[in-house]
Amino acid sequence: MKSIIETDKLTKVYNLDSQHSVVALKDVTCQVPQEKLTVITGPSGSGKSTLISLMAALDRPTSGRVYVDGEDIAFSSDLFQARYRKKRIGIIFQEYNLLEELSAVENVAMPLVVTNMKRAKRFDLAASLLEKVDLTDRLDHLPRQLSGGERQRVAVARSLVFDPQIIIGDEPLSNIDEETQENLFSLFIRLKVKGKTLVIVSHDRNFIQLADHVIRLVKGRIDHT
Ligand code: ADP
Repeated sequence: MKSIIETDKLTKVYNLDSQHSVVALKDVTCQVPQEKLTVITGPSGSGKSTLISLMAALDRPTSGRVYVDGEDIAFSSDLFQARYRKKRIGIIFQEYNLLEELSAVENVAMPLVVTNMKRAKRFDLAASLLEKVDLTDRLDHLPRQLSGGERQRVAVARSLVFDPQIIIGDEPLSNIDEETQENLFSLFIRLKVKGKTLVIVSHDRNFIQLADHVIRLVKGRIDHT
């Protein structure tokens, strides 16, 4: 399988103060195969969120490298990283990061404000993405008027707005009911079939079984057992 993301001895140390630090990742070397579903799993605190934040160029490692298509993103310029995040990846955050005062369709359309797309077109695109996650009848609802699962699906729709090649999710399957989980499973598989690369943090056994590749972390290291 061809890799799209490769990490090389990735280490991340969070300095809490001058005397205390946490080694969140230690020498993590792993690959994410292109156009496949990779699940990152492991106990709480094992470094999963840290690993995806480095793959998404949301943070920089203490040492090591993150290559995307062979290009080092870990130590590239802020501008390069911002462009990479916008053009190539879609991120589904754990806490959804929806804007409370905007409706579902406005939340999904919001990232498109920086483009020169006309307002009507932005809303059409957002509505079509919400249709993909079965939320056609919730377009004008505010996040607080939606269930946890519905908010999660809005976050998924928003992550697709720039048609990213890579979709990165931090436990998008938690806090949602079983039926919504099943819908998200099948949406992720459909996206994979369409040529997207998915990197999803999850503990869900059924979802792990669907994965083409599993990265298991324990205490900040790859668990090879
Ligand atoms: P997981 O996603 O597997 O729960 P995280 O990557 O969130 O693990 O965290 C790994 C370790 O790093 C944990 O011990 C956590 O407390 C610590 N950590 C995560 N983010 C920070 C931060 N911003 N500052 C300090 N410590 C952090």
